[in-house]
Amino acid sequence: MILETFPVGPLQCNCTILADEETREAIVIDPGDEISRIHRRLTALGLILKQILITHAHIDHIGGALQLKSLTGAPIYLNENDLPLLKIMAEQAAWVGVPTPETAPPDEALTDGRVVGVPNYPAHVIHTPGHTQGSICLHFEPLKMVLAGDTLFAGSIGRTDLPGGNTDQILDSIHTRLLTLPEDTRVVPGHGPTTSIGYERRSNPFL
Ligand SMILES: [Zn+2]
Repeated sequence: MILETFPVGPLQCNCTILADEETREAIVIDPGDEISRIHRRLTALGLILKQILITHAHIDHIGGALQLKSLTGAPIYLNENDLPLLKIMAEQAAWVGVPTPETAPPDEALTDGRVVGVPNYPAHVIHTPGHTQGSICLHFEPLKMVLAGDTLFAGSIGRTDLPGGNTDQILDSIHTRLLTLPEDTRVVPGHGPTTSIGYERRSNPFL
């Protein structure tokens, strides 16, 4: 397996490349920015991109998705409850003070329970609304790993003061959908360092 997570763009969104070393098939999660760097890495590793998976439609996570799609032909996956956020991309760009990226409707829907990923490294989609209405986490059960987007961070939780945010809902999503995963599940958040479900269950002050 190839697994690389690195921060991209001014808001340092964690972008992840996951690939099967044998088949060279890859997925990219949250290519928010620095697409030429991500594309160079895929090329250097000799990978074939199969899916572009977006945890939610905030600009720092989705900003480069269409550019990566045009370079690779890979389809974009997004939960349909975040479509309203795509429509206000210019507003989102103004919040951050960056040019408005070109966007397009997703090719595929990241609906709850759907299985995505490459054949040897599947992930279940967990719909976790609260940070945004279409926020999802990706649970790679055999890898004991969850990509949590901006729902759960090391020692913190996602902000809920932006359009589509809801504090009761994010707490409910975390308690019922994430903290119920095995203790030793590694959590790769949308920003900042990696943690684990057990560690956050015991010590996260927001929970
Ligand atoms: Zn966000």
